[in-house]
Amino acid sequence: MFGLTVPEEFGGMGLGKIAMCVVTEELARASLGVGSLATRSEIAAELIRLAGTPDQQRTYLPRIADGSCLPTAVFTEPDTGSDLGAIRTRAVRDGGVYRIFGAKTWITHGSRSDLMTLLARTDPASGDHRGLSMFLAEKPRGDENDPFPAPGMSGGEIRVLGYRGMKEYEIAFDGFAVPAENLLGGVEGQGFRQLMATFESARIQTAARAVGVADSACALALAYARQRRQFGRPIAAFPRVAGKIAWMAAETAVARQLAYFAAREKDSGRRCDIEAGMAKLLAARVAWAAADNAVQIHGGNGYAEEYAVSRILVDARILNIFEGAAEIQAHVIARGLLAGRN
Ligand SMILES: Cc1cc2nc3c(=O)[nH]c(=O)nc-3n(C[C@H](O)[C@H](O)[C@H](O)COP(=O)(O)OP(=O)(O)OC[C@H]3O[C@@H](n4cnc5c(N)ncnc54)[C@H](O)[C@@H]3O)c2cc1C
Repeated sequence: MFGLTVPEEFGGMGLGKIAMCVVTEELARASLGVGSLATRSEIAAELIRLAGTPDQQRTYLPRIADGSCLPTAVFTEPDTGSDLGAIRTRAVRDGGVYRIFGAKTWITHGSRSDLMTLLARTDPASGDHRGLSMFLAEKPRGDENDPFPAPGMSGGEIRVLGYRGMKEYEIAFDGFAVPAENLLGGVEGQGFRQLMATFESARIQTAARAVGVADSACALALAYARQRRQFGRPIAAFPRVAGKIAWMAAETAVARQLAYFAAREKDSGRRCDIEAGMAKLLAARVAWAAADNAVQIHGGNGYAEEYAVSRILVDARILNIFEGAAEIQAHVIARGLLAGRN
């Protein structure tokens, strides 16, 4: 799972984004948390594969592929989410290291991970994306009592509605040291561009996560509608219930095919920001609608934690927010269309 798309020469399976979609969807069908296990590994491996120095590739790709190195993506800040080019965390050169100062938030799997792909500002005179650099910042794994044992780093958990199995953290950096050779690609000022090169793939993977969630909502709704009886017959016999299931199945099938299409474009080496944005936008919305309808079909039981469908509802809600909110995907799609790329 962790090495699915890592090239074989670095110990991975060398598969493409279609395989990534199939595996991600299957895992997310069981639980969004499980379907999300490899998303940070995918982002880190893609960053290093596309932009890393040969040394960085040799050091990190085999460890990411075999799962011994668990990465975490450290981009968002308390005041800066969608507008990532405006982040303010600083990386200040100090001899053989960069020292990191600033605050990050919403860092999934922040504590027990081994490697941060960390976006920070190396040019203090800049105010936009051009002054940003990406770091491969190693850290010790934390635990329940001491989530961030490294010097210069502290933080705490953010409790959330769903996404169970994953934990979110806010992290403060105060002089945390990153060796200078861990600047991705060895050149300052490339961080935003390097990150953007991974956006298509990350959005396709999140679309696949959403398809898995939508599909599990369909399956649970169908099973419940078959066995639950009211007015002397299974509720599936009522057209208003059956109609909901039909729409869920149809919309999920469309979202799946769109995700596969974007993945095929990516595997063919073609630019696919519009397709990836469409897949992510649509699949997240379909997952939320499917989860909502599945809860409705479960009646009161749908609201009980005892029933898996209640977990699916809170899991589905996040898909429209992270990995580029719906409004940002819509913006990417419209910008591409307005530029004549359709
Ligand atoms: C559970 C969870 C896990 C996450 N994991 C990670 C992680 O591992 N690493 C990481 O770095 N980040 C992570 N994030 C952060 C996530 O990527 C951001 O929450 C997301 O990018 C949105 O940023 P924001 O929350 O600051 O919202 P804002 O950017 O403040 O947006 C607020 C609202 O305004 C809208 N908006 C903003 N700009 C525009 C615009 N130009 N046009 C139209 N509408 C706009 C947004 O779409 C949104 O609806 C995670 C978040 C959550 C909730």
